[in-house]
Amino acid sequence: MTTTADVLVLGGGIAGLTTALAAARRRLTVIVLDTPRPGAASRAAAGMLAPSVEEIPADMRSAAFEARDFYPAFVDALRQRTGIDVPLDRRGILQLASETDADELRRSAADGAIWLDPYELRSLEPAFADHAGAVLHALDGAVDNVVLMDALERAADAEPAIQRVAAEILTVDADQPSALTRTRGRYFGTRLVLATGAWAGGFPGLPRPLPVRPVRGQLMRLAQSPVHHVTYGAGGYLVPRGDTVLIGATSEEAGFESETSLAGLAALRQIATRAVGGLAGAPVVDHWAGLRPMSLDTHPILDADPDAPALVYACGFSRNGILFAPWAADQLGRVLMGEPAPELEPFRVDRPALATSGRPGTTTTSS
Ligand SMILES: Cc1cc2nc3c(=O)[nH]c(=O)nc-3n(C[C@H](O)[C@H](O)[C@H](O)COP(=O)(O)OP(=O)(O)OC[C@H]3O[C@@H](n4cnc5c(N)ncnc54)[C@H](O)[C@@H]3O)c2cc1C
Repeated sequence: MTTTADVLVLGGGIAGLTTALAAARRRLTVIVLDTPRPGAASRAAAGMLAPSVEEIPADMRSAAFEARDFYPAFVDALRQRTGIDVPLDRRGILQLASETDADELRRSAADGAIWLDPYELRSLEPAFADHAGAVLHALDGAVDNVVLMDALERAADAEPAIQRVAAEILTVDADQPSALTRTRGRYFGTRLVLATGAWAGGFPGLPRPLPVRPVRGQLMRLAQSPVHHVTYGAGGYLVPRGDTVLIGATSEEAGFESETSLAGLAALRQIATRAVGGLAGAPVVDHWAGLRPMSLDTHPILDADPDAPALVYACGFSRNGILFAPWAADQLGRVLMGEPAPELEPFRVDRPALATSGRPGTTTTSS
């Protein structure tokens, strides 16, 4: 088994696997080092592709929409390689209005968004008959991120240029690009890709402090499917999945604690009930928590380190890693080939917002 490759990818979540596949597509050899950790985000997420609803700064917005529109071809290519059909929903996302914010929501709706009055909303989604209207963000939607992760793992395992190694990474050396593992010794790459999610900031040997921390999100799945559209509102969101619905999510500064809590589950039940009264008694199928890899300004960190160009960041994906990762990997594939990737400019590790912005508050709800 070889310990040297063109690209050494640290972390096997959505960021690591999509980057590994993008590198292999460019005929680079890849080793992916990963050990499953409780709270790893990619399977725990809700899978929404919501650039229209999420707060994304102006200089990153076009990338966010490109990332959303990257998905159809991306899942199509995955299906051809793996036979796995990853469910992709592009029906649009509803943003519910209340009596107090309906006018403001209608006025602030982005270009391309459609205002639905209460009658139109009820025709589209009878379960929302009590709401004061909604904005429909066409083309936003969701992907089943669990099936997506299955497909990415299968694609990586079928790719001769990629070797996946189960190993815990202890230290990273950006100068002599390599990583030391607990039981398997040292692995080397011409380039290193740091894609270790919420744990990205914790390695000795990085050339700079990396402002990434875990932010816990709890989710609940209920055994009813009252709506067809992914919906933001009532202090959280609903994501239809098969004949169930995901209710999300808390946003908590709880360190690396990755269990659900009674308080978190009660908050989720409230969101569900405020959105659709009939969900008050719906049985809980499942509940879990994940750790968002939250960067200081809540946006991804991408591109090579300006002081240590062998080190490439694919981390800090925060609340929108399912949305951004496949697009980001495609861009990072260029970086790994030494080609320019100007679209990554707003995401660089040395952007001022990573040095200066304040931390967001604790226990709220978000994606
Ligand atoms: C509740 C919740 C809901 C979310 N909803 C959405 C959503 O709707 N839409 C969206 O776009 N995003 C969403 N996100 C965010 C998204 O899930 C993340 O941004 C994304 O999954 C991050 O992917 P990643 O590969 O960087 O990290 P991860 O998936 O956490 O992967 C990191 C990997 O690195 C491994 N690792 C870490 N340290 C080491 C080490 N020392 N040695 C070996 N392996 C290591 C971990 O075990 C893990 O396998 C949500 C997140 C949460 C928690």
